[in-house]
Amino acid sequence: MDYERIFKAAIDRLHDEGRYRVFIDILRTKGSYPNAQCFHGHNGPKPITVWCSNDYLCMGQHPAVIEAMETALHEVGAGSGGTRNIGGNTHLHIQLESELADLHDKQSALLFTSGYVSNEAALSTLGKLLPGCVIFSDELNHASMIAGIKNSGCDKRVFRHNDLAHLEQLLLEEDPETPKLIAFESVYSMDGDVAPIAAICDLADKYSALTYLDEVHAVGMYGARGGGISERDGVADRVTIIEGTLGKAFGVMGGYITADTDVIDCIRSYAPGFIFTTSLSPVLVAGALASVRHLKASGEERAAQQAGAAMLKAKFRDSGLPVMESVTHIVPLLVGCPVKAKRISDILLAEYGLYVQPINFPTVPRGTERLRFTPGPMHDEAMMDELSGALVEIWDRLELEKRRAA
Ligand code: PLP
Repeated sequence: MDYERIFKAAIDRLHDEGRYRVFIDILRTKGSYPNAQCFHGHNGPKPITVWCSNDYLCMGQHPAVIEAMETALHEVGAGSGGTRNIGGNTHLHIQLESELADLHDKQSALLFTSGYVSNEAALSTLGKLLPGCVIFSDELNHASMIAGIKNSGCDKRVFRHNDLAHLEQLLLEEDPETPKLIAFESVYSMDGDVAPIAAICDLADKYSALTYLDEVHAVGMYGARGGGISERDGVADRVTIIEGTLGKAFGVMGGYITADTDVIDCIRSYAPGFIFTTSLSPVLVAGALASVRHLKASGEERAAQQAGAAMLKAKFRDSGLPVMESVTHIVPLLVGCPVKAKRISDILLAEYGLYVQPINFPTVPRGTERLRFTPGPMHDEAMMDELSGALVEIWDRLELEKRRAA
């Protein structure tokens, strides 16, 4: 067997399609974000401006978070030393779960090592615990939800994105006695649109289905205390399970679910992705705890971020750049070709010191390749003018279409 040839052919396919991923080599500098250093190109670190971080509110560099992590490191040490069941259940983990349950107005919460793991572990376990369950999944759900649904072994029905009529049609086709679970996201991170959570919950009530809501791109960002779109819309109590990450707006790392105590106890007791792994480092947990607490009390970062996103969208629109119709903090520019998206990103970095990663298939459907900008509270107007000016110049140079995307 020519293993080498098989691996090489797999990589060549990605090159041929223009979607071979190149990771850029950067270091963020605490206190000066969105400025960072780029080690790309082997000619020494160069200053760049980062435009695509999911540390949306810059909490990863917030003094309260850093201080909490430093204290935990010095007082508790680096790692937890075990799984939650065997020695790794620190008091910090318990405090954070209690804080997260409160954030979403739920009885209990459970921590995982990432948002990806929380989705995979929770969905696969739920599906196994509900005999004959059918899972209804939005077609744009994240890879981690798709993996969890697949590993649950349940039958899956995929409904068109945010399409309530299609979801209802699929629900109607099932036996009323069949256990059902509707899995969806609140903010879809590549388009920046939002799910009709209340209407999906209405359908869930009508057809006796459970609901599983991924709020990964919304926690910390929406709602008076950062409880996400379900808090903003006043519907958190209608959703069976709310899932989130500690790695994006909260600026640290880790994932979680919140729900009624019985549901959480089931996942805690049955999910291999929770049970058989070392628990999160207490340093990370302490940082996340400080971040969640801060964003519960302060809306300042959220307001500044929303204002920045609105300003950047307006600048792109006024410059004739094809900004997509996002209703959230995410600012996507449609390119529609993986090779061109990479080319624009390469020029921005090499000539302007501006970093945005191209987004290609399978993260987004083919033909909708894009650049995804995430302005934070620290990106000022001068930076936005610099970015818009550079993009207009590149758009003209590459003779790309200037229009407003649908
Ligand atoms: N869910 C969604 C919708 C995501 O976009 C992501 C990550 O990008 C995840 C889950 C995984 O979260 P984490 O990065 O914490 O693993």
